[in-house]
Amino acid sequence: MHTQLLINGQFVAGQGEVEDVLNPATGEVIARVAEASLDQVQAAVAAAEAAFDGWARTTPRDRATLLLRLGDAIEARATEFARIESLNCGKPYLFALNDEIPAVADVFRFFAGAVRSQQGALAGEYLPGHTSLIRRDPLGVVASIAPWNYPLMMAAWKIAPAIAAGNTVVIKPSEQTPLSTLKLAELLADILPAGVVNVVCGRGDSVGSPLISQPQVRMISLTGDVSTGQKILETASKSLKRTHLELGGKAPVIVFDDADVDEVVAGIRTFGYYNAGQDCTAACRVYAGAKVYDRLVADLSAAVSTIRFGDQHLEGVEMGPLISERQRNRVASFVERAAAQSHIEVTAGGKLGGGRGFFYEPTVIAGARQDDEIVRREVFGPVVSVTRFDDAAEAVRWANDSDYGLASSVWTRDVSRAMQVAARLQYGCTWINTHFMLVSEMPHGGMKKSGYGKDMSMYALEDYSCVRHVMLKH
Ligand code: NAD
Repeated sequence: MHTQLLINGQFVAGQGEVEDVLNPATGEVIARVAEASLDQVQAAVAAAEAAFDGWARTTPRDRATLLLRLGDAIEARATEFARIESLNCGKPYLFALNDEIPAVADVFRFFAGAVRSQQGALAGEYLPGHTSLIRRDPLGVVASIAPWNYPLMMAAWKIAPAIAAGNTVVIKPSEQTPLSTLKLAELLADILPAGVVNVVCGRGDSVGSPLISQPQVRMISLTGDVSTGQKILETASKSLKRTHLELGGKAPVIVFDDADVDEVVAGIRTFGYYNAGQDCTAACRVYAGAKVYDRLVADLSAAVSTIRFGDQHLEGVEMGPLISERQRNRVASFVERAAAQSHIEVTAGGKLGGGRGFFYEPTVIAGARQDDEIVRREVFGPVVSVTRFDDAAEAVRWANDSDYGLASSVWTRDVSRAMQVAARLQYGCTWINTHFMLVSEMPHGGMKKSGYGKDMSMYALEDYSCVRHVMLKH
């Protein structure tokens, strides 16, 4: 297992504290990764700064060529990446292999094309005797901080647009899941000039915080918790660094009485429990029309009870463990508090899974009310609540009555109603008759406390670059 940091094109052992990295299905240590010391964080930022001038001046074509090579190299090692991601995160191996790794390779390929075909305002004489033109230039060193739920995909979402736009990067994966990013570092070292991407490992307070505080860092990109976003904004406010924040979510799923219930059930069974529900877009907060509510709760509970959960390597397993004991206990306590309320019924799951690992049963909570904690707070686990609504206005009001604003979905056969409701939802994304589907061409990002800044799509290239005006007097 690769455990060394990548600084200025060289692999070096971390000089800080050693962190155990676990297999969440067994709790066993699979690697020990030494954190970066402060000197190493500074060296990584210095390397990125030194590489910036040269990298920023490469042509889009040359950068695209390297991004395409990265995409190919990831694809060629798909099984290795899937094995590491599956082992470290508890993801069912085939899901990692078939869903995540191809999407990761595609992100590099998308930005290879995107950076060569950006559009913009026309140059012209907006003042007599002067020609104006618009440039879009990179910002400098980007500090990227990633979470544990999709370690490699989040690394790709952060690295690909940043370097495509001509920035250089120091990325810190989550201390719980550094292994796939460290594996990616091998490809980065092989394909990119030294210093363009550097990888440092460690915890948020000991490595993340000093990293984002370095004066040469011009932009901070975080995917993580709302509270981490707030801390990062405090730090960034001192030097007015640009920030790009992808924070939590609590996706509403509005099911109208005319929806195709079988489709809804199949959809929530997949999109509410994928990655053990540790997904900021998970279909976790269902609002069901009064006429469809009973059938939906019954069918969904029956369907969820058939989700096969267990060790990520077992054939046919659809859901693995949660990432850590702490996360599993956090999920369990949410369910306990919900179950203690007399109006709530746990209609599927609701218990710890067996074995040594951090398993929790796929769970359905029926009868939840808008003010209940289980409806309002992000659980980040395999738990879906169902709440009955009376009319569309109430459903939209409740859906929007949330601190979060990342993802949402509307399920109905009435196209007109779907479009009207979608227009009124305050979420970065609304799916109609599906949920969770992402493509590299379209943006992913939130509103409200879910943060701001877009991943993927042309909008990410905009976020990782700056519009500049150049004016020439004739
Ligand atoms: P987290 O905020 O605890 O950690 C995220 C990263 O931030 C880790 O690398 C961590 O080490 C680092 N960090 C923590 N404190 C820091 C500090 N003071 N300075 C710098 N870095 C610091 O989040 P997590 O538990 O790893 O991930 C789960 C959270 O991420 C959930 O809330 C989830 O909704 C969110 N998430 C959001 C998206 C999205 O696209 N919006 C995607 C995935 C996860």
